[in-house]
Amino acid sequence: MEVAMSEASVYLDYNATAPMRPEALRVACDAFHTVGNASSIHQHGRDAASKVDRARRQLADLLSCSPGELIFTSGATEANNLALQAAYAQHGLIVTSAVEHPAVLETARALAGGASGALITLPVDRDGQIDPDEFRAVIRQHGTALVSIMLANNETGVITDLSPLIEAAHAAGALVHTDATQFVGRLPLDLGDLAVDLLSLSAHKFGGPQGVGALFIRRGASLPQRPLVFGGGHERGWRAGTLNVPGIVGLGAAAEAAHRLLDDEAPRITKLRDLLENELLERVPGSHVNGSRAPRLPGVSSITIPGAPADALLASMPHVAASDGSACSAGAPSPSHVLLAMGLSRDAADSTVRFSLGHATTEQEILRAVDATVRAASQVRAVMDATAGS
Ligand code: PMP
Repeated sequence: MEVAMSEASVYLDYNATAPMRPEALRVACDAFHTVGNASSIHQHGRDAASKVDRARRQLADLLSCSPGELIFTSGATEANNLALQAAYAQHGLIVTSAVEHPAVLETARALAGGASGALITLPVDRDGQIDPDEFRAVIRQHGTALVSIMLANNETGVITDLSPLIEAAHAAGALVHTDATQFVGRLPLDLGDLAVDLLSLSAHKFGGPQGVGALFIRRGASLPQRPLVFGGGHERGWRAGTLNVPGIVGLGAAAEAAHRLLDDEAPRITKLRDLLENELLERVPGSHVNGSRAPRLPGVSSITIPGAPADALLASMPHVAASDGSACSAGAPSPSHVLLAMGLSRDAADSTVRFSLGHATTEQEILRAVDATVRAASQVRAVMDATAGS
């Protein structure tokens, strides 16, 4: 596998971007070698269109939905924007949670535009979970709305038990969208069982290329068509623009591989995650795992190391690629809104590292990452203590 990282580097940042699965890399590269616009009527165009059709079926198989319910986009950010914009036009109210990705929170804020009563942001408990009774009360009071609640959190891996919320939302006439970007391809997801109306995903989180994703729109969902991009009517009018054929075929191949390998990968990755956490909790005094009492994704670990700011910690272990919060807000000086919503102090949030593992992670890599983190934590704590004492 050709991944742009040095030989000695341990890559534990799958929630930012997972390395491409070899199957996906191969077909995406092959697709760059061929010419053909999927809308053209000649043979080249028909070949491109048939590759896109195949990818749509591969993704539909992974999600147990119909290929006709999928719109290809440039990623989950666009899919979230598309879903929220269309549903807001219909309902004029968005009910969401405090721990959503900015691609939902900022979109909801922009759509609501400060209008009173147009946006309700539900709090979470210290395990990152919404209180279902509070949700039911809100939804009963407000009725028709767009509910947008993520399936798994990008920073902590905490999984939402969505089914009871969907039931309550539908009973009140609300439409339900979920940002499943971190869940898809990591754990089984059956849209025959999970009755959401809309779902967003991004290929690069499950071994496909960056810059491609999809929005699932359930057949029969009552939703006005509100494209973000107007033009030639591609994707049944939802998303104009020449299709990204190499990206889409890479997404399809990654979906197929994830579908085939998921049952073996999920327990293997969970074991590695547990090894990482057990070792770190034992060897780094005072450390704790955020969201550990909630159901979580197999490969995500949010670990607070009090007294060791995450930026300094990560700088002291350059051969381990991990994240100090969500990569999407990297560079921004503000602390993680997810961890603050879970009740962490600003200091604790700033001293939290996210390790995210995946399909290519090995036990040896975990042990190397643990050693590096233990060393870095004691170095950074020593410097912090010396600075505080001087
Ligand atoms: N939602 C979640 C939960 C994510 O983790 C991400 C990626 N960090 C996105 C949406 C946005 O995905 P993309 O940048 O691929 O559009």
